[in-house]
Amino acid sequence: MTSLPLISVDPDARGRRPAMPPRHLADLDLPGRQSLVTELGEPAFRAKQISNHYFGRLVRDPERMTDLPAASRERLAGALLPALLTPVRELACDDGATRKALWRLHDGSLVESVLMGYPDRVTVCISSQAGCGMACPFCATGQAGLTRNLSTAEIVDQAVYLAGVAASGAVAGSPPRLSHVVFMGMGEPLANYSRVVAAIRRLVAPAPEGLGLSQRHITVSTVGLVPAIRRLASEDLSVTLALSLHAPDDELRDELVPVNQRWKVSEVLDAAWDYAATTGRRVSIEYAMIKDVNDQPWRADLLGRLLAGKLAHVNLIPLNPTPGSRWDASPKPVEREFVRRLRDAGVSTTVRDTRGREIDGACGQLAAAEDSDTDPRTATA
Ligand code: SAH
Repeated sequence: MTSLPLISVDPDARGRRPAMPPRHLADLDLPGRQSLVTELGEPAFRAKQISNHYFGRLVRDPERMTDLPAASRERLAGALLPALLTPVRELACDDGATRKALWRLHDGSLVESVLMGYPDRVTVCISSQAGCGMACPFCATGQAGLTRNLSTAEIVDQAVYLAGVAASGAVAGSPPRLSHVVFMGMGEPLANYSRVVAAIRRLVAPAPEGLGLSQRHITVSTVGLVPAIRRLASEDLSVTLALSLHAPDDELRDELVPVNQRWKVSEVLDAAWDYAATTGRRVSIEYAMIKDVNDQPWRADLLGRLLAGKLAHVNLIPLNPTPGSRWDASPKPVEREFVRRLRDAGVSTTVRDTRGREIDGACGQLAAAEDSDTDPRTATA
């Protein structure tokens, strides 16, 4: 694998010492867990047993691990299953089909995840960082800045925890099994590259090593960190890439997605097309519709010209105005005209549903994610 430089948005890379959480089994692959278990004086096969409880049965309470001797249970759970996420609040809306969880981490940081049930699938939207360093002016998380990267296990545990909620039948009218994960919560996943890639490996590894999800059902959303997109393409993974474009021209994108000052629209789209060519996966182009800012017909036409003939799908996201923001969502007729022009240019386009609006779960950083498999029953255009 070629090693490409990553930009130094990783707080570790700046020499600060963020308070990372205790080690957890989801930080390690199965061989790593086996050596740890052996170091603890237990037979290596206990690694599979405890992994099967956590990933296979979604059980984390040592009391319920009755196939383990009582003394081993405490020792193994103590060393491998520290509590990483403390639920602070859980909010439900859409008749229980959308649930937002707010967690406190061991150092007091707060992060959010969202569980969304559909008739044919269950999606969780997870966070990769506490805060975010990308400073997009329309995004609530971007305003607060970056606190720290989440550990691999802090990322994975959001999905495992909510998979357990889904399995308990809490999402009426949906299958009980978690099927999709989108990295569209707080943070820029590709700025926490190695932990996010390790988390994806845990999500797709079959139980007991991991959660056994399909790679195609995982979506990584990015502002467009070009070297990291290229590096992701070189992994043996074919997850869906979502690119938060939000403007087809550099002048406006420099403002809406400040990292554009470093990697221009043409460079980020080139990286996206190379990603699509390497993985065979259609790239999802995210575009928040902001009234009188990026919703003009000429911008739709320019976007259409950039995307025509490419392996791409456009997701228009009605802007969820953040408190104190001067921006608003585009009016529906403007949105419809934007969609029409893109489709006339031959570009596949849908408008994302606004799941969880009333619990602030559709605010973009916690957007109800419709990747390229958008279900027509939940899309509004
Ligand atoms: N940092 C990553 C992933 C998190 S945000 C990224 O930027 O892609 C997930 C999506 O929600 C991104 O497309 C982001 O631009 C969008 N978003 C953020 N704030 C929003 C808001 N207030 N309204 C609508 N979409 C928003």
